[in-house]
Amino acid sequence: MTIAQSLLSLQSTDQTLALRRRDFREVERELKSEGGLPELRENCEKTKVRELESKVETARLESEFAMLKEKVAELETRLYGGAITNVRELTAIETEHSAARRSLAQVEESIAPAEVAAEHARQQFEGLTNDLAEKEKLWQNRNVELRQDLYRLGSEYNEMLEVRNADASGIPEDDLARYTRLFRSNRGVAVVRVERGVCQGCAVRLPVGELTRLRNADGPIPCSCGRALLTEG
Ligand SMILES: [Zn+2]
Repeated sequence: MTIAQSLLSLQSTDQTLALRRRDFREVERELKSEGGLPELRENCEKTKVRELESKVETARLESEFAMLKEKVAELETRLYGGAITNVRELTAIETEHSAARRSLAQVEESIAPAEVAAEHARQQFEGLTNDLAEKEKLWQNRNVELRQDLYRLGSEYNEMLEVRNADASGIPEDDLARYTRLFRSNRGVAVVRVERGVCQGCAVRLPVGELTRLRNADGPIPCSCGRALLTEG
């Protein structure tokens, strides 16, 4: 194999390796995400807390309502019982009575929305819980599948990398160093062929002098596009 052929073959292997590394990382990422279960669990928890808070608030309003109702009744007994005849005292009780009735009305109005909020949160929690159970079941299978994929991709990658490194060891050090540098800087394309006098990397026709120089060289020569050129050979 000529240096040119070795480099082209190495590049093809390296491109495949890069794709496989990407596949491996994708599987790894999906495994790490756990199918979005952690977010869903957290959301479920938050909804549960919201439901409890709404229930606590409803209970608080209800007990306040009962207390105010009792107070209003008590004030009414005093107002209309006939025991108090002092005008100033009666006026004071009347003021207290209307204030208590206003509070009672306010509290009564707040109970229904609090109940609605609790019910809304309860329904939401129920929906999320079902959703979570379903997704957990699906994830069980997917998790096994992904772990198998990860193992397979990892082994295949390592095997390929060994072959790649063995191939690379047969290439002169200078050529390999230049290849590696170009492969990195040119996004995975270090060497390109020249076909019918045209660089296959940038589609530019080479001047005759360059073509002659390329044919006489035993390795690649640089093209103005930044990649290294190889003859068809
Ligand atoms: Zn070029």
